[in-house]
Amino acid sequence: MRASSRTFALGLAGALALPGTVLAGPAAAHERPPHEHPGHARGGGPPTAEPPKVPQMSGRGGAVSSVDPVASRVGIDVLERGGNAADAAVAMAATLGVTEPYSAGIGGGGFFVHYDARTGEVRTIDGRETAPATYDEDEFLGADGEPLDFDTVVNSGKSVGVPGTLATWEAAAEEFGTMELGRLLHPAERIAQRGFAVDANFAEQTAANAERFAQFPETAETFLVDGQAPEVGTVFRNPDLARTYRTIRQQGTEAFYEGGIAEAIVAETRTPTTAEGVEVLQGELTLEDVASYEALFGEPTRSEYRGLEVYGMGVPSSGGTTVAETLNLLEAYDERTGETLSEVPEEQYLHRFAEATATAFADRNRWVGDVADVPVAELTGQAFADERACGFDPAAARPRPVPFGQPDGDYAACGAAAPAQEAVAGGVSTTHLNVADRWGNVVAYTLTIEQTGGSGITVPGHGFLLNNELTDFEFAPITEGVPHPNLPGPGKRPRSSMSPTVVLRDGEPWLAVGTPGGATIITTVAQIVTGHVDRGLPLVDAIAAPRLSSRNGETAGADLGLAGSSLGAQLGGLGHELEDVRWIGNASAIRILGDGRFEAAAETERGHGGSAMVVRPDRSR
Ligand code: GLU
Repeated sequence: MRASSRTFALGLAGALALPGTVLAGPAAAHERPPHEHPGHARGGGPPTAEPPKVPQMSGRGGAVSSVDPVASRVGIDVLERGGNAADAAVAMAATLGVTEPYSAGIGGGGFFVHYDARTGEVRTIDGRETAPATYDEDEFLGADGEPLDFDTVVNSGKSVGVPGTLATWEAAAEEFGTMELGRLLHPAERIAQRGFAVDANFAEQTAANAERFAQFPETAETFLVDGQAPEVGTVFRNPDLARTYRTIRQQGTEAFYEGGIAEAIVAETRTPTTAEGVEVLQGELTLEDVASYEALFGEPTRSEYRGLEVYGMGVPSSGGTTVAETLNLLEAYDERTGETLSEVPEEQYLHRFAEATATAFADRNRWVGDVADVPVAELTGQAFADERACGFDPAAARPRPVPFGQPDGDYAACGAAAPAQEAVAGGVSTTHLNVADRWGNVVAYTLTIEQTGGSGITVPGHGFLLNNELTDFEFAPITEGVPHPNLPGPGKRPRSSMSPTVVLRDGEPWLAVGTPGGATIITTVAQIVTGHVDRGLPLVDAIAAPRLSSRNGETAGADLGLAGSSLGAQLGGLGHELEDVRWIGNASAIRILGDGRFEAAAETERGHGGSAMVVRPDRSR
């Protein structure tokens, strides 16, 4: 079976090569893979070792952070070779497409936030997937007018939007970078070709999806070994993906958007190849949909928090507006109570935080989507938050769902009552990376294929999974009679929660942060900012702290044992119903310390730990 030729047991650790030379150029012809599996004809050098996972590192020369040490190492390599933050971010993302293929890749989309040291400007790239031109508001309703079953749509061609990731990389490399896209794809191509060591994350994610992947023979062949997840420590290779990267390197992104890869994507989504007896919904993507895709440059959202400038992702992500509103609400609660977030006890901090996020989510769900009239300036402004803060009670949680507000520029002490809307669902996958370079450029980039494993459909012969991003649309209006900004539409981009965030202090870049986690992305980013800024936690501890995610539903997610702790009980006493979850998100960040120093930070525990690296670590480490 082809799959088993893509993995093999890792023999000697010494046979592994650190990807420190990956930018050097194509594998020399004389290099031989040391452990080539019998029957596996395509070699190209030793597999890539996973550098140690370090959750915090300080030093000079530039910094990166991500969930994966192989990707972080590639980013450092690019910086060492004179690349800038955008160059490193693209090379890291391409690598994550190989090593984190269930979270991100060229079959998906994402949002790129960039601070340009030369101009002092923050700009964004919207690489969100688009719906086929034939989709309308009723796309996800059945013949009976009821919403289609969510999982049925996920595992089908119908959930697949035109991928925007490759167009994002090209836009970033051309506009902000210094290196050719082809050069930046090369390390990832080599890692896909030579293979990398399967880690706990990869094995767990494959195992969790094995049944789903088995429905699609190409996916089973690409990612399963005899129908099972590969074992930790074995080497996984993806020669099809290596070849796809090589094709793009040689022929440009046209190969993907107009050439043979586009044809393969369209054919596979319209008529997915399934295992015997499995039938799935067909998609409607056309070659024209794919060819007309554009990654869009745009303005970030901007708000102020404690004198800092917070830049986030604008529409169609709800990340920027909802993080901004949350932070503005917290400032408004300070005013109302006369006590700042930094001085209240821990349960009050989390209570305020949960009240703020629930309120901000009520507004997000009503007002934000890929529509023309999103009141971004109002949603991110302090005046609206001051009005919305009027329902805050330090002694009790507001009943959920909190009603949405009217961001109309006309604010009284307390806004007019509006209907409460149920919370909406979201996925739990994705990946995030940050880069800061020695010239002062900064990138925060979140990318995804939506669910872990996306639609489950792998493009035949090309080694990458297609997204199921179109399930981020609402299938039906949440409340009858209330307009809904996130229903499907022709060429429309589904609303996202991705929140790549760059914070400036005194006009200079100071923090880059982001995380995966579906709608919990927003609460996680806001909690890390408040943990660090208000609660005085070192950055790595602000990332490691147990998370609370109240998104205007009946319950709030709480991880790392918070729900069962005495603090959890205190929150329960205030009316918060906590739901115990294993991990919320998998965040990473970089703090620019000034004086040429950086602090990179990542998870200590979630996702089995993340990877923080700097070009020249401080000596004391
Ligand atoms: N599709 C989600 C979004 O854009 C991200 C996927 C996830 O993190 O689960 O908000």
